Amino acid sequence: MPTLLRGAETAFENRMIDRDPIPTWQDGNVALLGDAAHAMYPAGSNDATQATVDGRVLAAKILEHGVNAEALAAYDQELCGPVSELVLRNRRAGPFGLLNIVDERCGGMFDSIDGVIPQAEHAAFMAGYKAAAGFAVETLNAVPTIIEKGLRVSASG
Ligand SMILES: Cc1cc2nc3c(=O)[nH]c(=O)nc-3n(C[C@H](O)[C@H](O)[C@H](O)COP(=O)(O)OP(=O)(O)OC[C@H]3O[C@@H](n4cnc5c(N)ncnc54)[C@H](O)[C@@H]3O)c2cc1C
Repeated sequence: MPTLLRGAETAFENRMIDRDPIPTWQDGNVALLGDAAHAMYPAGSNDATQATVDGRVLAAKILEHGVNAEALAAYDQELCGPVSELVLRNRRAGPFGLLNIVDERCGGMFDSIDGVIPQAEHAAFMAGYKAAAGFAVETLNAVPTIIEKGLRVSASG
């Protein structure tokens, strides 16, 4: 057991969980975002990252449509489908997929991880996940901003 845990008076063990995607995050004048909308395994830099994207897209839609259900519907339309796919992909791909492969091959017991999953296979697996998850730095940096600097919205729309 690591020294940090051994030195603690109490240690809580919480299960890592995700939730099956739901068809829509919007119900009239209410919309879900963040973990309430799409709890997923926090792997591959995902989860809080999506909550941040939710906030930005929602703000952009409110600027475009006003503070109303139309803005919530546009936000839901843009993100619910793709993020639901991401939740499912996160179960089988990325770091968790890699752990499953290791488990299948040796039950988690090994002397050298390279003997279980060679570096080239490891790199190819993760490259596929990163491409699907949109981790390409150049592509990401080339995306234009969706909210112009200084824009404000008032509660009346
Ligand atoms: C161990 C761990 C590691 C993680 N690592 C990463 C990572 O590396 N990268 C990443 O992107 N994400 C990671 N995450 C996920 C990330 O923490 C969540 O996705 C993020 O915090 C979700 O933000 P949220 O605002 O939607 O929900 P939360 O952060 O859960 O905020 C919800 C808030 O609502 C409050 N609340 C609940 N009920 C009520 C109520 N009835 N009235 C008032 N307030 C209420 C809660 O107290 C809480 O403050 C990790 C999570 C865990 C547990």
